[in-house]
Amino acid sequence: MPIRQLPSTLINQIAAGEVVERPASVVKELMENSLDAGATRIEVTVEEGGTRRLCVRDNGQGIPADELPLAIARHATSKIASLGDLASVTSLGFRGEALPSIASVSHFTITSRTASSDTGVRLVVEGGRASEPRPAAHAVGTTVDVRDLFFNVPARRKFLRTPKTEFGHLEKVFKRIALSHFDRGFRLTHGSRQVADLPPAPDREARERRVADLLGPEFMANCLHLEHSAAGLTLNGWLALPTYSRSQADRQYFYVNRRMIRDKVISHAVRLGYQDVLFHGRHPAYVLFLDMDPRGVDVNAHPSKTEVRFRDSRTVHDFVFRTIEQLLATTASERPAPTAVEAPAFAASSRPLPLRVGDHVQAYERLHEAPPPMPPDIPPQSERRAHPPAFEPTAGADEDDMPLGTAIAQLHSIYVLAQNRRGLIVVDMHAAHERITYEQMKKQVADGSLASQPLLIPIVMRVASSEADSVEQHKGDFARLGFELDRSGPEAVTVRAVPVLLQDVDAEALVRDVLADVAEHGRSARIERRIDELLATMACHGSIRANRSLTIDEMNALLRTMEVTPRADQCNHGRPTWTALSMQELDRLFLRGQ
Ligand code: ADP
Ligand code: MG
Repeated sequence: MPIRQLPSTLINQIAAGEVVERPASVVKELMENSLDAGATRIEVTVEEGGTRRLCVRDNGQGIPADELPLAIARHATSKIASLGDLASVTSLGFRGEALPSIASVSHFTITSRTASSDTGVRLVVEGGRASEPRPAAHAVGTTVDVRDLFFNVPARRKFLRTPKTEFGHLEKVFKRIALSHFDRGFRLTHGSRQVADLPPAPDREARERRVADLLGPEFMANCLHLEHSAAGLTLNGWLALPTYSRSQADRQYFYVNRRMIRDKVISHAVRLGYQDVLFHGRHPAYVLFLDMDPRGVDVNAHPSKTEVRFRDSRTVHDFVFRTIEQLLATTASERPAPTAVEAPAFAASSRPLPLRVGDHVQAYERLHEAPPPMPPDIPPQSERRAHPPAFEPTAGADEDDMPLGTAIAQLHSIYVLAQNRRGLIVVDMHAAHERITYEQMKKQVADGSLASQPLLIPIVMRVASSEADSVEQHKGDFARLGFELDRSGPEAVTVRAVPVLLQDVDAEALVRDVLADVAEHGRSARIERRIDELLATMACHGSIRANRSLTIDEMNALLRTMEVTPRADQCNHGRPTWTALSMQELDRLFLRGQ
């Protein structure tokens, strides 16, 4: 075939392959146009998931009659005029591709009116062929009506799913956009059903109501608000507590200058911020807005503009990571108060129970285990003078210094009950102690001060030869963790010393678990990078088992240590370590004052 210029309709249809994948992508482009036009009210109406009809109406600035034909012409935009504009673009669109692409693969009508004109004007496009503009009644603003998407591209139409599935995608896009612009109102109607009606949300309370509407009340009840600026960057929004983590990464909304993005640098930074408080394989939930100088971010990195490139990605990464890490590390004593608002309380039915049924089973199983070894950090009363540091209660501390209150009892040797001015505090002592031990070991490893304790009688263990290999190979790393391990045969290792903090635990079980962890991380992974995970495994061994009785002093000492331990509100697996039941909540349980 000779080389020839393609007709413009075909060019647009090819381009549509990039921007228009399904009804959801059409809604994204049209809603973004409405936002760019300054609309404060955006109404989306769809039929059959958007496959039959999809209409976006706004009260934005409109398009002048003489420019309307240009709006549907390729590479025509009112948003940038030069490369320089592109470098600092703040509008969501700028490519001038969406309308011509959509119009080339649908029955398309656009009606618009500006404030300076007293009638609207309408243009109809049938599979890429535009009619003459005609006057039409319309309020100031624009309506784009898209019917029978892909009617003329059977290959694409075939790929559309059921209306229900398509609507699911469309609704996700609607949510993302409604979350990005609190100052605008949005409505979504599917067939005869009104799915969402969101008035503009001017203040924080209204915003939180919108977030709760869109992401569910449990999200809102389990998150921390955040607002932090530094070095020209501002991060604000809501961060779910680690206890509200999810098995899917489906509640993650990150916006740069109000544009929703998916970016490796950002998701890495967020994951790192949560790394210490989230169990493996769980995903954090968040709605976060990063605002920055538009010149510091290139939004023209991808046709659908969901990927961006930061000019200084290191700074952005560290800013996001540190902001999140610090917020999550806030200990109980620094948080405003351990009230039911901050702590996941089991009185509020929408909040997750602190422990699942399986955990209770485990706790009961532990009750029937052999008597556990004495944890090193909570020595019995008689020895406490000899081990002053870890759990010494602060003398003369008053109530305000003790957000977790004073211990009153222990429940079934699993929970510590304490009271503060506001009500009852319940602590899962194993989970709490696990976190404390973990943080102590982490600190010691970082300081290079993790001491090891030689065993009186070295233990010889039979292991798999691959495990013996890894002992040989990583001897230095094990030493950093406080272990002295030697290979003593093709399938045997000898344990000569263990970390002091863990000297009383079953050394053989501990070493087996650590070896299993190392094996699971694979040959290539350096222990160095896995040290936190290994420490978490070790901490679990070193924590008070659920069936140990504590004296009141020991319980108080545990509470005080929790208050000064970073991230003490969750165990290493992201479960809460404590919860609060305020007097009001107790009153409610007993219908007092009602
Ligand atoms: P882009 O948004 O990249 O500029 P589009 O093809 O989406 O390209 O839109 C082309 C032009 O049409 C826009 O630059 C804008 O001037 C105009 N336009 C589109 N939708 C609207 C709207 N809802 N309100 C006002 N103007 C609009
Ligand atoms: Mg656009």
